[in-house]
Amino acid sequence: MNIHEYQAKAILKSFGAPVSAGFPAFTPEEAAKAATDLPGPLWVVKSQIHAGGRGKGKFKESSAGEKGGVRLAKSIDEVREFASQMLGSTLVTHQTGPEGKKVNRIYVEDGSDIEKEFYLSLLVDRATAQVAFVVSTEGGMDIEAVAEHTPEKIVTFSVDPATGFLPHHGRHIASAFGLKGDLAKQAAKVGATLYKAFVAKDMSLLEVNPLIVTKDGRLVCLDAKMGFEDNALFRHPDEVELRDLTEEDAKEIEASKYELSYIALDGTIGCMVNGAGLAMATMDIIKLYGEEPANFLDVGGGASKEKVTAAFKIITSDPNVKGILVNIFGGIMRCDIIAEGVLAAVKEVGLQVPLVVRLEGTNVEKGKEILRDSGLNVIPADNLDDAAQKIVSAVRGAK
Ligand code: ADP
Ligand code: MG
Repeated sequence: MNIHEYQAKAILKSFGAPVSAGFPAFTPEEAAKAATDLPGPLWVVKSQIHAGGRGKGKFKESSAGEKGGVRLAKSIDEVREFASQMLGSTLVTHQTGPEGKKVNRIYVEDGSDIEKEFYLSLLVDRATAQVAFVVSTEGGMDIEAVAEHTPEKIVTFSVDPATGFLPHHGRHIASAFGLKGDLAKQAAKVGATLYKAFVAKDMSLLEVNPLIVTKDGRLVCLDAKMGFEDNALFRHPDEVELRDLTEEDAKEIEASKYELSYIALDGTIGCMVNGAGLAMATMDIIKLYGEEPANFLDVGGGASKEKVTAAFKIITSDPNVKGILVNIFGGIMRCDIIAEGVLAAVKEVGLQVPLVVRLEGTNVEKGKEILRDSGLNVIPADNLDDAAQKIVSAVRGAK
């Protein structure tokens, strides 16, 4: 689960990390009020979306100006003006995809005098089961280009959670930044603080880009991207409250209500499968025969009729879906339940696209009988290969 920059900064601040003062705002008036509560004379108006690259992003609406999703304002009137341009507009960055993301909230922050911009991030390194630090002097807005063209400017090391963050890790960060004296001490302290927050909050990613040196010699976390490990969310109810559903795929939210594992994809063939392995194999074989899956969907072992109905509705709500492949192995899940769920769903939402069903396992004959007697236009399939070929040709016929 990801959160917004201003929420991440509030968390960092609570651990004692250096962040600038600022306030979130949902209207231009709130933004102006926030600016009066900050010292000025420079304010930064920052679009809050769950994607990076905002500074270099562009709004779809020309009324929002060509200046990007992070803008420096020199007066309170300018803060209000930028806020009204950004709010409700759609920001496209290299991380949002061409459709962009609508800006529903902004962050008004105290402007900093920047001397240097560094890059610092922490993430879980699954290979070593440690917390990896990624450090570079080349912070700012183009870290991807640095990784591609001058990877030697990126320093990485891991911290063993058994020992935690040690003084030499702090020195490592300071020397990677080329800092000495008091700034080196600040860098070590920032590293230790971020590590502490990362572990305490069960984060999966914490990226500070840029971490700046101000003209008056202070290190400040000027941007913050924070993600939490979903499997640990149950022990952080305060983090769950920070969730912004408008940033997430509506179909995935609906699926999570029914405990369905659903991931929206770009293809045309909707898949309803039980078991993650079988779901992956189903997606692979669709690709093998030349089409693309519209989703990953694992209905799970103990799916009920309600769950199957919900799954079917979610799949059909995707306008890209030109055909559906149901591939169920009835082990714990009985094939007749699946058949009834499919029928119930079709009755509720109607069936506008070809449907191929491959059932195998417990009560398979009963399941096939239910579908056969339903009068529905279901294309039965005998095995995975057969099913994939049939749905691919059905989708191609419909094109
Ligand atoms: P993104 O990474 O999404 O582009 P950032 O928060 O990193 O957004 O902002 C982009 C750039 O804007 C930063 O690299 C920095 O140069 C500038 N910036 C951001 N916040 C401030 C601030 N409070 N004061 C001065 N400049 C800022
Ligand atoms: Mg940034």
